Amino acid sequence: MTQSQILRNRVKSTLAERKAQRLYRARKVLTSPQGSNVQVDGRQLINFCSNDYLGLANDPRVIQALTQGAARWGVGSGASHLICGHSSPHHQLEEALAEFTGREAALLFSSGYSANMAAINGLVSIGDQVYQDRLNHASLLDGGWISRADCHWFEHADMASLDEQLSVRQVAQPQPQSQALSLVVSDGVFSMDGDVCPTQGLADVAANHGAVLMIDDAHGIGCTGNQGTGTIDPSRFSSAEVPILMGTLGKAFGTAGAFIAGDAELIDYLIQKARNYIYSTAMPAAIAYASLTSLELVKHEAWRRENLSELIGYFRECAAAASIPLGDSNTAIQPIMIGKAETALLLSDYLSELGLWVSAIRPPTVPQHTSRLRITITASHTRKHIEQLVEVLARGLQKLMNADQRLSAHG
Ligand SMILES: *Cc1c(COP(=O)(O)O)cnc(C)c1O
Repeated sequence: MTQSQILRNRVKSTLAERKAQRLYRARKVLTSPQGSNVQVDGRQLINFCSNDYLGLANDPRVIQALTQGAARWGVGSGASHLICGHSSPHHQLEEALAEFTGREAALLFSSGYSANMAAINGLVSIGDQVYQDRLNHASLLDGGWISRADCHWFEHADMASLDEQLSVRQVAQPQPQSQALSLVVSDGVFSMDGDVCPTQGLADVAANHGAVLMIDDAHGIGCTGNQGTGTIDPSRFSSAEVPILMGTLGKAFGTAGAFIAGDAELIDYLIQKARNYIYSTAMPAAIAYASLTSLELVKHEAWRRENLSELIGYFRECAAAASIPLGDSNTAIQPIMIGKAETALLLSDYLSELGLWVSAIRPPTVPQHTSRLRITITASHTRKHIEQLVEVLARGLQKLMNADQRLSAHG
């Protein structure tokens, strides 16, 4: 067989396999901005799958800042930060994010995926150890793999499991190589389950074993805490407890990009070592400029967080009253566990026919047999939206229980 035949076969068989297992993914094209109501294929849908938690992605003031930023700074940044792509909006945003997170410094990346890969791969290498929560985001796992450090997994949010993992290594190596690093890594808010990591537990267990802790707060930052500082309250967790803190700008901030915050020396080290920082074009300065406005809104418009939190409570209350099985999340991410990929898709399609967009999340994003509907609630939803969601969801689930696999909106 020629190489091009092998390639064609691989592509074809993977696509066919994904389709047969109901794991094939297709994109839907939006013809409206992000928001609680969006237009897809000419239809209006109430959007329950966006991470635009505070409704800032289409906020007029953020749009205006982006426009002004582009007028002043142009579109492309032209180069990586270390060459000539680091302009004053980037620098200001880094300083503002450092202050926001109660850290000495922060470093911008063009995505959270990139920030996680860069931080882990920059900090550990052969001979080091990385301990990851089983449900950590793919970018954290990939960062571990690419670093060539030894990767270990502890049971989800299970501090006894983490403690055991760290102890096993200490027993195996009673005199740990003095220069080896142990890095414990966890999502702050777990992206597919919505539960919050046991921050104090992680900090304590890591400290007991002399390991350092990294928290990825992609879904927490902006959404909770005083002024929206998220899972890691700077007044409670200093850089001594959480030396490496990652936050994203594409979710609650409504813009794009991400950052790592920490001690000035650590950030200086990452500037030297973080490959995704060094070998990648800087985010457009206009995006950094817009993110500065967004940060002000995150900090000062607490009503957005209050709205969000009120709607989350309302959803859980309505869902419980309708006997919809909920997870134990109190965040904007509210999964409804289904199990089979096919069933999750059926339910998602049913909701869509009735004007509600909730994505079915399937393996490999989540473990086998845990396909689910991932509902996300945002500050721009209304109680009416929530009521509609719960009503349709209850009806869909009831139809599934009646083993009506046709699950049609009509009849
Ligand atoms: C979304 C997400 C990321 C990636 O951030 P992007 O800016 O979208 O690349 C990283 N970690 C977690 C937990 C996420 O949910």
